[in-house]
Amino acid sequence: MNDREGNDSSDANCGSNDGDGDNGGGDSDDSDWPPRETAFLCDGMLGSLVTYCRMCGYDTAYALDRDIEADDRLLEVAEREKRTLLTRDRQLAARTRTAGSGEGTEKKSDEHRFGVNGLLLESRDVTGQLRELRAAGYELTVTERPVRCGRCNAPLEAVGNGENTPAYAPNVDVEDVWRCIECEQCFWKGSHLESVERTLAEL
Ligand SMILES: [Zn+2]
Repeated sequence: MNDREGNDSSDANCGSNDGDGDNGGGDSDDSDWPPRETAFLCDGMLGSLVTYCRMCGYDTAYALDRDIEADDRLLEVAEREKRTLLTRDRQLAARTRTAGSGEGTEKKSDEHRFGVNGLLLESRDVTGQLRELRAAGYELTVTERPVRCGRCNAPLEAVGNGENTPAYAPNVDVEDVWRCIECEQCFWKGSHLESVERTLAEL
């Protein structure tokens, strides 16, 4: 809750007010936004959704990144890592605790059921999936600053003032830039975050 410059994200990216600001200051600001409490595991049919979830700040594992194919393995990983399983597979969803439909109704505890929360997403296209996710109560807004790598899900760190950025990324004295601690992909509040925001706004 440090409101450095009170930018309320609507105008965060109309750039070029090169606030020679306190970028260098406490970059230990991992506390200045509410982390999402839910972590997701997306099945192999939800590849496009993965990036959106990460841009919205959710820790989001993707089955294909992890070479997970079998349903049992998906359930195991979701259970072990306490992730909510997002799936387009009705049968798989039925093996989780709250498979979408309705207000946390307990299912009859019949056979062995994994202790996994799950959500069935029926849409084929990503905007439909996002709508379903939002309808299920998950907040879908781009976080104040990017926190998860859209490519690999690892945390991002701010690129410091004197540091160079790769050719595809803006210079840090023009824009705030964040870098993935794993794959080193850089992110900033430029075009692709804007397009994510636009998509979310139009849902
Ligand atoms: Zn990464």
